[in-house]
Amino acid sequence: MLSTYEVWFVTGSQGLYGEETLRQVSDDAKKIAAYLNDAPEIPVRVVFTPVLTTPEAILALADKANAHSACIGLITWMHTFSPAKMWIAGLKALRKPVLHFHTQFNREIPWNTIDMDFMNLNQSAHGGREFGHIMSKLRKQRKVVAGHRRDPKTVRSIATWLRAAAGWHDAQGAKVARFGDNMREVAVTEGDKVQAQIQLGYSVYGYGIGDLVEHVDAVDEKEAARLVEEYEEMYDVDAPLRAGGEKRSSLLEAARIELGMRSFLEEGSFKAFTTCFETLAGLAQLPGIAVQRLMASGYGFGAEGDWKTAALVRAMKVMSEGVDGGASFMEDYTYHLAEGRNIVLGAHMLEVCESVADRSRIAVEVHPLSIGGKPDPVRLVFNAASGPAVNATIVDLGNRFRMITNEVDVIEPEADLPKLPVARAFWVPKPDLVTSATAWILSGGAHHFGFSRALGAEHMEDFADIAGIECVIIDEETSIRKLKQDLRSNEVYYHLSKAL
Ligand code: MN
Repeated sequence: MLSTYEVWFVTGSQGLYGEETLRQVSDDAKKIAAYLNDAPEIPVRVVFTPVLTTPEAILALADKANAHSACIGLITWMHTFSPAKMWIAGLKALRKPVLHFHTQFNREIPWNTIDMDFMNLNQSAHGGREFGHIMSKLRKQRKVVAGHRRDPKTVRSIATWLRAAAGWHDAQGAKVARFGDNMREVAVTEGDKVQAQIQLGYSVYGYGIGDLVEHVDAVDEKEAARLVEEYEEMYDVDAPLRAGGEKRSSLLEAARIELGMRSFLEEGSFKAFTTCFETLAGLAQLPGIAVQRLMASGYGFGAEGDWKTAALVRAMKVMSEGVDGGASFMEDYTYHLAEGRNIVLGAHMLEVCESVADRSRIAVEVHPLSIGGKPDPVRLVFNAASGPAVNATIVDLGNRFRMITNEVDVIEPEADLPKLPVARAFWVPKPDLVTSATAWILSGGAHHFGFSRALGAEHMEDFADIAGIECVIIDEETSIRKLKQDLRSNEVYYHLSKAL
């Protein structure tokens, strides 16, 4: 999907320099746009747009970008000085995310040949500051990336923002299907859905399980049998579920549920969904493998009615498209608190996406759920692959949404877990489990979150900035004393900022 998106490369200048200089500005801008477009890290098409020299042209471009369905944002660059009053109307009108690329065409000063013509042409160093000033004065949210395009850090930082902007673009007008309701008495999975639509762009649609059951009942038996064959080709199917096995019918039922859910979600053009084990009447099993495979197809998911996490997991799916590491719904389940070796076991009752799996072994198994009182659900069981990852959640604090993000290192389990019937991940959070858990809890972070090895804290920070929501990052630098002060300051800031 990212390949259908575009970012517009927008260059500012002014009429004072004459046509020859402006032609050069245009040529250089085309080259930078092409360089970014060709960079393998850049996930969307970079489209050059004609150099802007008047307030009218800037406003017209902003209006065009707002209305363009494939345009996920603007990368702006001031090759020369571009007096920033020209930008006020356009920036006020612009509703797409914007990145200010503070760079210049040449990498080095041409010591022997530099003259006043060169100086006039290459004024980004102060032109970018004039532009940045008006953005600050307008309180215009943007990402600033400073540096030369040939510095890999620069392209990486732009690519990160583009992925966040793509996740944001996808969320605008997105539909989340909520099968059943919230798990009774649970606080954090709820929130203000109308405010979420205003702030985050997606809309939550509630359905009774009966609506879903109609789709499951309509599944063709041959199609279900074909899907079971696919399971057998892709995974290591446990003996009781194989042909002739005593639990074979559970596997067919699981396949019917997957096909029914998929047809429901496709028919309604949903991008994410939630289930709840307390509201399942009419469905034979809590959807396990169905949810896991739908997530692998790109759907966001939240259990127990958690629509905020479902939408966030969807955004993380879009943001991580094409990058190894996957993205999944996840929950802190239980701890290993050995002296000097503190580890989190992350899992859920069933629903962890196979995109995060160590693919050396993915088993299909059926076991009792232990709670909920339904027949045993079929699920994929695996270990998550190791490497650096990020956990991110969004909570509703009543007067605002807050994202909490924690950098973690996913590790291999220390031993086999022959009796654990769920997919799981093991990680060591930064800066350490004790500080991370303290910081997450003080921030009001949920027990549900999106988990991804394809993304980092900067992706989530860029996303939160675009969304205009609070962002708490827990990383190597986190100190509890400073975090407490930040949370107190944010309480004031987010109260007052509504008036700014
Ligand atoms: Mn849960």
